[in-house]
Amino acid sequence: MMEITLTCTECGSGISIAPTLDAKSCECKICGKEHNIYFTPEHFDGVLKDCPCCQRQDFYKQKDFNRKLGVTLFVTAALLSVWIFMSPYAPYAVAPFLVLYVFDFILFRKLKPIGICYKCNTIFRNVTNIQDIHDFNHEMNDRIVYSDHDFKGEHLDH
Ligand SMILES: [Zn+2]
Ligand SMILES: [Zn+2]
Repeated sequence: MMEITLTCTECGSGISIAPTLDAKSCECKICGKEHNIYFTPEHFDGVLKDCPCCQRQDFYKQKDFNRKLGVTLFVTAALLSVWIFMSPYAPYAVAPFLVLYVFDFILFRKLKPIGICYKCNTIFRNVTNIQDIHDFNHEMNDRIVYSDHDFKGEHLDH
């Protein structure tokens, strides 16, 4: 089942929803704002063609990387490295970063790609047609976000 996390236009919190037939709107649990959503039969098969929030068809994919976790790990490695540097094991001060590097490499390869709507930043997990979705394109993003251009699902190629 596709998992959808939309970003509240009012307060920026994430709202998790799953496609259900009768869902026409969902409420932000933080600020109470109602968001209209439109599911198509494709959403029930995990196929991402239309955004249920803004009805656009332009998405990009990226790894489902948890930035907070990444920062926490990096800070931990840095502190550990300083601590080792002050100890008699100073030559091994880079060890935590090596561990972090290997860990990051393994973790990164395991992460599943997610689809994201350029227009409204809604996140889609468990997308069955993820291979049809392209990587982030800066020009597309700028034109969608700043000049409200609608690519209608066509990927910009140069
Ligand atoms: Zn909200
Ligand atoms: Zn959208």
